[in-house]
Amino acid sequence: MSKPVVAIVGRPNVGKSTLFNKISGKRISIVEDIPGVTRDRIYAEAEWTGRTFSLIDTGGIEPFSQDIIMLQMKRQAEVAIETANVIVFVVDGQEGITSTDQEVANMLRKTSKKVVLACNKIDSPKYMNNIYEFYNLGLGEPIGISAGQALGLGDLLDEVVSGFPKADEEEYDDLTIKVALVGRPNVGKSSIINRILGEDRVIVSNIPGTTRDAIDTPFEAGGQKYVLIDTAGMRKKGKINEAIERYSVIRSLTAIERSDVSILVIDGDAGVTEQDSKIAGYMHEQGRGAIIVVNKWDIVEKDDKTMNKYKEDIMKALPFMSYAPIMFVSALTGQRVSRILEMVDIVSNQHALRVQTGLLNDVISEAVLMNQPAVSGGRRLNILYGTQVSVKPPTFAIFVNDPELMHFSYERYLENQIRKSFGFRGTPFRFLIRGKD
Ligand code: GDP
Ligand code: GDP
Repeated sequence: MSKPVVAIVGRPNVGKSTLFNKISGKRISIVEDIPGVTRDRIYAEAEWTGRTFSLIDTGGIEPFSQDIIMLQMKRQAEVAIETANVIVFVVDGQEGITSTDQEVANMLRKTSKKVVLACNKIDSPKYMNNIYEFYNLGLGEPIGISAGQALGLGDLLDEVVSGFPKADEEEYDDLTIKVALVGRPNVGKSSIINRILGEDRVIVSNIPGTTRDAIDTPFEAGGQKYVLIDTAGMRKKGKINEAIERYSVIRSLTAIERSDVSILVIDGDAGVTEQDSKIAGYMHEQGRGAIIVVNKWDIVEKDDKTMNKYKEDIMKALPFMSYAPIMFVSALTGQRVSRILEMVDIVSNQHALRVQTGLLNDVISEAVLMNQPAVSGGRRLNILYGTQVSVKPPTFAIFVNDPELMHFSYERYLENQIRKSFGFRGTPFRFLIRGKD
């Protein structure tokens, strides 16, 4: 079950970031610090009445500049409409309706997505009458809140959660591999998709989307069922927000979250950029199967060393993702594009691989024999045993005498040894280091 996405939109200074921080409890989704990946505080995981969801502050994506507020508001709303299940439209209950609010409301009224109107800065009952004016936006009942004082947030979140798909509503069956193709604009994602969906593939149909708009493309190939996640945005071209790279990160995030395997497409001519490394960071953090596809290989000047050199450069730029297979393709000529699905099959298998406890412990014991943990403060780490507790991504509980003695470098060493024995190609690992009791 993928997490519902909630987007916060609204003019500058209405209190979006304050609301974002209150709802997320400042638990921003940094599972681990990934070197080289800078993060915008625009994305967080949050929970209300047992439902977890992803929260996006669209206003945090780009700093507003006075002269183009309207344009930026439109982009925000457009991204929210495309990627979110529920949109929270924040207005300023002390300032009243502005023309910008009107414009955004006009856009939001056209979507079938659930829109919750949050009338902020209702800091005390004396402001409560202010909310009535906002009925005029035509978005239903305004909910009076004070993000600053944390008032009315429960009512707001109840309304938000009521717009989520039902928890037991599985989107696709277990046999379908969910694939996200992500990357900056113009790297060639749609061209690759069109190649993959070439004549010999059966496009099952666009899911008529009870809960989401039809944005996924299911198809079958070689008897395997796949679904390309969130392809709609890529097929429509020439939209204004395509120009803004940072929005592509947001769109990627929600697609990554819903996928089993994410394919990061890089422009072979440009190499790895900062936006690429951000997207890769999220793939890693979300524990998705990962493939790196270097596209436009036809225009890269090359000799017999170029490919290896390129791989080294990618490893350097994305050191946390050394497990990901790297492919060099050209959507233009079709070169090696057909191998992408083969790799998706491999990575999807590895992502779901489960290792028997006995075999795992043989590997761990041997690893410890070959390379003893260092002594620290007169004490040595003692690994009692390990067991794989889950898949997608493979997660290992390692029981030790004292978790404090486990160093990152030793964890890396164990990871490498486990990979040497069992593969786990294209999939990140998680370790849970546990004390004896
Ligand atoms: P954003 O630009 O929409 O993200 O707005 P911010 O969250 O940065 O808030 C803009 C200003 O409004 C800041 O000075 C906040 O302290 C203030 N603010 C936010 N929420 C409230 C509220 O509930 N009541 C009042 N009085 N001020 C608020
Ligand atoms: P998207 O925005 O990532 O979906 O990228 P598109 O698929 O729309 O491609 C952007 C541009 O790159 C288009 O002009 C494509 O024709 C071009 N393009 C895509 N793939 C290749 C490729 O493999 N080689 C070359 N030379 N151009 C490509």
